Amino acid sequence: MERYDVAIVGGGPAGAAAAWQAVQSGARVVVLDKAEFPRDKPCGDGLTARAVSLIQKMGLANEVDTFHRVNRATIFSPNRLELSFPSRPGMPNHGYCAARRELDTLLLKNAQSAGAEVRQPTEVSGPIVDGDGRVTGLTIKGGERVFADAVIAADGAYSPVKRGLGLTSRYNGYSAIAIRTEMQANRPDSDSLDIHLKLAFQGDQLPGYGWVFPMGGGRLNIGLGYVNSYKRWHQINVTQLLGEFLATLPPEWELPSVDELRKAKAVQAWRLPMGFTAWPPWRPGVVFAGDALGAARPASGAGISKALQSGLAAGECVIAALTNGGPDDFTNYEQRITSTWGREYRNGRLFHRLAGIPAVANTGRRVLNGVSHPKVRAHLPWSA
Ligand SMILES: Cc1cc2nc3c(=O)[nH]c(=O)nc-3n(C[C@H](O)[C@H](O)[C@H](O)COP(=O)(O)OP(=O)(O)OC[C@H]3O[C@@H](n4cnc5c(N)ncnc54)[C@H](O)[C@@H]3O)c2cc1C
Repeated sequence: MERYDVAIVGGGPAGAAAAWQAVQSGARVVVLDKAEFPRDKPCGDGLTARAVSLIQKMGLANEVDTFHRVNRATIFSPNRLELSFPSRPGMPNHGYCAARRELDTLLLKNAQSAGAEVRQPTEVSGPIVDGDGRVTGLTIKGGERVFADAVIAADGAYSPVKRGLGLTSRYNGYSAIAIRTEMQANRPDSDSLDIHLKLAFQGDQLPGYGWVFPMGGGRLNIGLGYVNSYKRWHQINVTQLLGEFLATLPPEWELPSVDELRKAKAVQAWRLPMGFTAWPPWRPGVVFAGDALGAARPASGAGISKALQSGLAAGECVIAALTNGGPDDFTNYEQRITSTWGREYRNGRLFHRLAGIPAVANTGRRVLNGVSHPKVRAHLPWSA
């Protein structure tokens, strides 16, 4: 039986950032991940400027610069709208496309070098809860138990810790159903994140978009996602929709068909919770970060930067609470998350509800189709 100050479930961006932050104070920290890294995670692989700035903060400025750089976003609605990343103090004005196998391994190794113990492959089967309802540790598949003063659940969209606790959430953000594939294409490497807003199911405009992101070396990450606020979302065959989207892309790119990609096991779908799906973001002994919190940005689905940001906040707030009061009250984390995203995510949940109505989604797309004013462009989510 082992005892730690902080035990973190999940070594993705949220868990790695939380671990990196928590060890800065000298705390004894363990990260448990069921996968063996390098491991893949279905993703568009797009790093926003904010994500880059957080990776830089963790001392990885040179390493992140080795990924494929992107300087702009191009929105097809279907009219073409070019957006550059805004200039903000202390932030890069560009992003990257980074294969998650490489990015996540880099982040987890960084946490390990900073002092966190990493155990992989180590699958957590559930939380240990004491008689007062406080989480005091984790049970590992096979029966071993790990005890900690605080647990950070950074265990992704299907969070087994959250499920194990049987929690209900005060805010019920929506989830996107998202699918991606990667391939070699006959297209010169670009520096643009291409976003395609025209995405329809049986004539209904969906609350979502398709993307084409350049990975460098002639490779493309292509995918799409739609939010489950659309009533008939469960009738959609997401792989078929991806096939239809691929068919709209230029034939000279010579893309493989979705069947060929599926046969090559190059197609993966996953959930993407947004707008908070575990609220409050803590219970006695445990806090939630990243997809386990539903931290992705409702307007765009950008989840890596929010996983990093909530992970860093979790690592810092948990140590501050343990130092000053103990594991029964992580209100400081709730306050941090609320002040950072509370208003935006409340509006985001409303935005998703409305965008789930095809007529509203279609009107929104058509309005965007006519947008040219620079001030409006600056506020579009893909430029942030
Ligand atoms: C198709 C798709 C495309 C996307 N595209 C983008 C994009 O381009 N840009 C962007 O910013 N965001 C994107 N996102 C969102 C982004 O991928 C997530 O928000 C991000 O990965 C969240 O990080 P995380 O650390 O919270 O979770 P994850 O990265 O999912 O990490 C969770 C970790 O927990 C581990 N784990 C799970 N269960 C257990 C267990 N029982 N025991 C131990 N470990 C466990 C897993 O192995 C995993 O390593 C996309 C999402 C999808 C689905």
